[in-house]
Amino acid sequence: MTAITLAAPLAGWAMPLSEVPDPAFAQGLVGTGMAIDPTVNELRSPCDGTVLSIHRARHACTVRTASGAEILLHLGVDTVGLNGEGFTAHVQDGQSVKTGDRLISFDMNLVGSRAQSLVSMMVVVNDGYTVDGQSVNREIAAGDAAMTVHGGSGADAGLPAAAPDSEEDGDGETGERAVVLPIASGLHARPAAALVAATKAYPGTVTIHCRDRRANAKSVVALMGLGTMLGDRLTVRAAGPGAQDMAESIAVLIEGGLGDPVVPGASAAAAAQVAPAATPIPAQPAAEEEVGPPFAPGEEVLLKGTIAVPGQAVGAVVRRFRSIVRVVEQGAGEQVEEPRLRRALEQVVANLTQSAQRMPEHAAIFQAHRELLDDPELLDGALADIRAGKSAEWSWQRTARLQADALAALADPRMAERAADLRDLEQQVLTALSGKGPDVGLAELPSGSIVLADEILPSDLAGVPAGRLAGIGMAHGGPTSHAVILAAALGVPTVVALGRQAERVPDGAPVVIDGNRGELLVFPPEDTLAATRTAVAARTARREENRLTSREDCRMADGTRIEVFANLGRVSDAPGAVVEGAEGCGLLRTEFLFLERQSAPTEDEQYQQYQQIADALEGRPLVIRTLDVGGDKPLSYLPLPKEENPVLGLRGVRVGLREPELLRAQIRAILRVKPAGVCRIMVPMIASPSELQAVRAMVDEERAKLGRAEPIELGAMIEVPAAALTADRIGAVADFLSIGTNDLTQYVLAMDRGNPHVAAQLDALHPGVLRLIRLAVMGAKTHDRVVAVCGGSASDPMAAPLLIGLGVTELSATPAVIADLKAFIRTLRMEDCRRVAEAALGTDSADEVRRLVAEAWPAL
Ligand code: PEP
Ligand code: MG
Repeated sequence: MTAITLAAPLAGWAMPLSEVPDPAFAQGLVGTGMAIDPTVNELRSPCDGTVLSIHRARHACTVRTASGAEILLHLGVDTVGLNGEGFTAHVQDGQSVKTGDRLISFDMNLVGSRAQSLVSMMVVVNDGYTVDGQSVNREIAAGDAAMTVHGGSGADAGLPAAAPDSEEDGDGETGERAVVLPIASGLHARPAAALVAATKAYPGTVTIHCRDRRANAKSVVALMGLGTMLGDRLTVRAAGPGAQDMAESIAVLIEGGLGDPVVPGASAAAAAQVAPAATPIPAQPAAEEEVGPPFAPGEEVLLKGTIAVPGQAVGAVVRRFRSIVRVVEQGAGEQVEEPRLRRALEQVVANLTQSAQRMPEHAAIFQAHRELLDDPELLDGALADIRAGKSAEWSWQRTARLQADALAALADPRMAERAADLRDLEQQVLTALSGKGPDVGLAELPSGSIVLADEILPSDLAGVPAGRLAGIGMAHGGPTSHAVILAAALGVPTVVALGRQAERVPDGAPVVIDGNRGELLVFPPEDTLAATRTAVAARTARREENRLTSREDCRMADGTRIEVFANLGRVSDAPGAVVEGAEGCGLLRTEFLFLERQSAPTEDEQYQQYQQIADALEGRPLVIRTLDVGGDKPLSYLPLPKEENPVLGLRGVRVGLREPELLRAQIRAILRVKPAGVCRIMVPMIASPSELQAVRAMVDEERAKLGRAEPIELGAMIEVPAAALTADRIGAVADFLSIGTNDLTQYVLAMDRGNPHVAAQLDALHPGVLRLIRLAVMGAKTHDRVVAVCGGSASDPMAAPLLIGLGVTELSATPAVIADLKAFIRTLRMEDCRRVAEAALGTDSADEVRRLVAEAWPAL
């Protein structure tokens, strides 16, 4: 008999199990132990041992001590329903851990707001152990002695988690009954405990079988470890006296939900579940997780994601979830595997070259893929594994994944997108190794397709025929990824970060994708489908009509002139913007010229691009923003120090002033564009007049060196709250101001614009943002400066009357909305805009502001 003291796995308020707001735990049905209401976001191992299982929803973990005690650590109450959202596992099944090792970390805000409680349980779940000495009703620190476990005798003691070897034990009687699991979150702790309570007294054995796995129904850990999901077909097998009756009664209990609500229609969903043709198996099972059966017709589901490309579409789903290639670890020797890998890499390079030829305007993206493939670390890593006897597939996959994970872990959205590029390449090389030709991309799509994928990759979009692709939904992905840029160029409504539930949408399912709200509606009722089709058709017709007048000046109904410009990113965007009615370019995001390269573009390269854009705008004004890199837009060839919080660090003008040669080259390139008056220079992230003065000094020096007599207008972006508050000071040194509402909103609301968890509240119509915009306009007026808005809200029709009412006279929007925006502005009267804007400043939320606007302009 041994006794071990368990360390507190979390810091927080320690409490008796009976106080846990979950009857199964409170009544000791799951096991004996204690609970902690945590004040930290990391769960640590309470003992030395082995990780028996990490639940597929990553909210619970079981560690087995050397004495055989199985310690279930369960974070929060009703957290299984989060399906892993907000949890990160740091260990894998079977891994050895030491006391204090990090097991799971979690997002306290997200889990705390979505779960019933954060109170977390530590219980011993297997028989033969007792617990005492719980240190409860006090504040406990992680690592403090928390409770003592008695029992077990050695390493092999207490291994009941495994299923009994045979169901033919007992008196030879056996029974079996199939049942569909009707519990939303599968056999998690509570129903597992109820199942154990029902089988414990039975003298024979009971096992639950799911897919090719089975578990002892008398073990909570084993049942949780089955990884069951709603709609799974289970088989209950019993062996012993009255085995058939036992199997029947357990199946009936399961059908009744074991204390959890029963989800109606689970059996129908199971019936609709199609067995995959060739069961693909994950190469690294621990890294993969299953999500549930496909949604069934009649099951109307709304998936929420993040807006990437606005617009609505109705269509049928084409699934492009990456099938997992079966990867064999053992290779046929270095002489065979190395040439195979090299040939596959050559094949992929050739495919990338072809893709670049098919989509020349996006050649830089395919070039970036080629450069990733050329990375010597990637090849060296794979070759090292090949030399150790592994197959080319295994070696390539392992190395690519390691690098992708390392990039993704950098907590930098752009690096995470590079990780996505690497995963794309991982698949492309595995496909080439399998001997198959390159993926045909989406070239064969039927028209009206809505493609759903883990992540659409740039290579997928190569060669998509116009009009076939109606919408894109991605389970993962970020709104600024390469693929999203391409989707926007194709005008395809796109929603990203839908989560893994998107994988449950079956091929062919009718859906509505709403890129304006960031939503995907699966199996919508017929009337919703019809209404959306009508709305999309009406919108298209209206846009066509608005295009007829979009090239004319934009004047409000009372004659007030409002200029509507376009935001551009590259040369190829410019002609289309003119067609849409852009009166110039109010924001050229020059970063696009600098990203996806291995070195900065030369002054000449820049000059040529700027000149081409100026030419395409046919004399209309061109506002060129100086390089806005850093933060979410890092440059691989411009090493900036690693920062804790880069969004508050070196970015925008701060980088330009730190790297003056980079900025001067850009200034020179802009100064060379002809005719001389056409370009204006705009500086991002200005916080103080001195920064703009420093840039102006550079402009004047470079102008003198080039012998250019004509002055050039120099404007400041108002993106930092301090700049809005001191616009009267900045206006004294700037020729014009342009409000970047994307950044201004993130800084005013203290919400990261790249964080999907706050995306829904990140609204530029928040009265706090509007008040700052008013201050900025008032400050600029003291010097008679024009104030433009070039952030995302300039493209939001609901924002237009408010911005105009606050005194903004120029909007720079995404080209696709310009025709509609101008038509709407022509209907507005300044006095109405001022009245509603004034009222908006006195509200408490962006929602209230939107309601005011909707009341004033119901057609919106
Ligand atoms: C903005 O912040 O609103 C803006 C226009 O700049 P960017 O989105 O490029 O940061
Ligand atoms: Mg900005």
